[in-house]
This record gives sequence, structure tokens and C-alpha cells, in this order.
Amino acid sequence: MRLQAKCGTYGGYHRHLRQHTDPCFPCRKALADYQAGHREKLRKQGVPEGAHGKRYTYQAYNCQCELCVAANNKYMTEYRAGRQVNNYTKSYEKERAS
Ligand SMILES: [Zn+2]
Ligand SMILES: [Zn+2]
Repeated sequence: MRLQAKCGTYGGYHRHLRQHTDPCFPCRKALADYQAGHREKLRKQGVPEGAHGKRYTYQAYNCQCELCVAANNKYMTEYRAGRQVNNYTKSYEKERAS
């Protein structure tokens, strides 16, 4: 038998995903810690050349430059618009079904 990752570790979180179970609190915290550490590492390294203008850069590096902020704003606008479209489609389908 393969050694199972323990709960409360990054591996434990992914074990939940593999087994399709809800990650428990210690596992979610481990993931948050891992991501926070990862982001901090990235921020210390600085944004690589040519990476500006992406929402990922805005999020991962917390880059506040004009290009990255614009990319994030654009994403949020599209995201909100997309959600409205989905809601509309859903209620439309419900009406048709009834
Ligand atoms: Zn767990
Ligand atoms: Zn930037």
C-alpha cells in the first residue's frame, strides 16, 4: 500500500481532491499556507520581463502597474458579464421546461 499523505499537509489536500472528498479544515489551511508562501517567493523574485498585462501577474505578484491592473479589471468585467449571461440562460431554460 502506498503511503498516504497526512491531513494538514499540502499533499493531504491533493489526496482529498484525488479521492473526491471535501478537503478538511487542516488541509485547506495547509493549502492556503502553501499558496501564501509561494506567492511571497514570487513577489520577492519580482515580475519577470514580459509578464505584465496579465491577471495572473496581478494576482500572483500583486503587481499594481497599469498593465496588470487593466488586465485584472478586464477579467472582472468579463467574469461579471459571463455570470449574468449564465443566469439569464438558466432562467430561460427553466421557463421553457415548465
Ligand atoms: Zn484532510
Ligand atoms: Zn505589472
